[in-house]
Amino acid sequence: MRFPTHAPTLVLALAVALPAVAQQDFSKVEIKAEKVKDGLYMLIGQGGNIGLSVGKSGSFLVDDQYAPLSDRILAAVKAITPDPVRFVVNTHWHGDHTGGNENMGKAGAYIVAHDNVRKRMSTENFNATFQRTTPPSPEGALPVVTFAEGVTFFWNGEEIRVYYVPPGHTDGDAIVHFVKADVVHMGDLFFNGSNYPFVDVSSGGRVDGVIGAADRVLAAIGDQTRIIPGHGPLATRADLQGYRDTVKTLRDRIAKLKAEGKSKDAVIGAKPTADYDAKWGQGFIKPDVFTGLVYDSLP
Ligand SMILES: [Zn+2]
Repeated sequence: MRFPTHAPTLVLALAVALPAVAQQDFSKVEIKAEKVKDGLYMLIGQGGNIGLSVGKSGSFLVDDQYAPLSDRILAAVKAITPDPVRFVVNTHWHGDHTGGNENMGKAGAYIVAHDNVRKRMSTENFNATFQRTTPPSPEGALPVVTFAEGVTFFWNGEEIRVYYVPPGHTDGDAIVHFVKADVVHMGDLFFNGSNYPFVDVSSGGRVDGVIGAADRVLAAIGDQTRIIPGHGPLATRADLQGYRDTVKTLRDRIAKLKAEGKSKDAVIGAKPTADYDAKWGQGFIKPDVFTGLVYDSLP
């Protein structure tokens, strides 16, 4: 799909989760590094937030944004450590999190992700919500190590637990827990900053999985834990709790209407999110889209 030039908000909106690299201008993007804990950083540029672990074993990335940014991302890593990137873990298959895979592979990194990330990246995907087709990724961009349930890295003096959770944002979401640093990267299971979540139904996502993932992380962390969200600023446990409670409240409202036998259009028309929209509906997932995706993904 070509982005209409007269609709900059739409361009921005789609750029967040369903990138079309050719249409985006990356020339002015700067990669900024924010220290999260000792040896642990969040890199912010364009696309999904990147996690970076540095130390005696070598650099370890969580997600890698877009291909045109790879040189800048590698330069940002080099400004922190001389060690090359050895591993990249993808939190899910979307191109704003995996677009740099091929370049990172060429730079010597091994790409690791859930089985379904490799599966989806290997084939053409059609997204019904945004009417967009994503072609298969080149061989060099595909994860070379995949897992079904999880994998643990003993790396940089850390225990890095990577684990799959049932379908939420997509059907291949992984959460990355840096146990010693007390930092969790949640990928797009968590948008921090008062945005409705993107339940990517076309990628097998389900609202109950978004809530379940938040519950699982909340049960495992404390007030000192820092959470790297897929998008938005670095977060605390309280931020995640607020997000989870909002999504649960709205999910229950929509589920009640659906259980009463109302059609999707009728539920959207009932505006079940209305009192939350001023705060939560300003991001790239608009209230009607959120309501429709929740409706579609409910059992
Ligand atoms: Zn995503």
